[in-house]
Amino acid sequence: MSNRKGPPKHQNQFAWKPKAGVKINETELGGKFRPYSEVTGVCQRCKEQIEWKRKYGKYKPLTEPAKCQKCSKRAVRQAHHNLCNACAKENKVCAKCSCRVGHIVGRDLSEKETEQKTLEEAIKNARERERRTLLRTDIDVTAVLICCGYCDSMRNR
Ligand SMILES: [Zn+2]
Ligand SMILES: [Zn+2]
Repeated sequence: MSNRKGPPKHQNQFAWKPKAGVKINETELGGKFRPYSEVTGVCQRCKEQIEWKRKYGKYKPLTEPAKCQKCSKRAVRQAHHNLCNACAKENKVCAKCSCRVGHIVGRDLSEKETEQKTLEEAIKNARERERRTLLRTDIDVTAVLICCGYCDSMRNR
């Protein structure tokens, strides 16, 4: 061990960014328009771990429910969890590390799903509004053209 004080000699100037230079599709899960749902059903420590994974591109969202290590049902709905929601709740343990904690972060998944639907609805509505604005612009342009054509013919009389 050296006795050198101060910051490391070769310190990174920027925090490492996963997929730097790769264009992000913001409508994909994890993008701006489809953010990951909040980490729930785990202890504070595991929540931080999962959030770390998300931040550094090590988070693997589930494509299908995973097997619960307690009841063996394919009922684990959140990535990086080992227990299903029901088992974790019943035993009052963290769904990831199974530690007995008094404080489990987040709310029920069903509540989260409702929230997700509301969000998706909002995005859909926003797109609809954008579309209508576009249509209106098209009509305006046509109206101008018709008017000019008419004015021209009047002028040429
Ligand atoms: Zn279970
Ligand atoms: Zn935990």
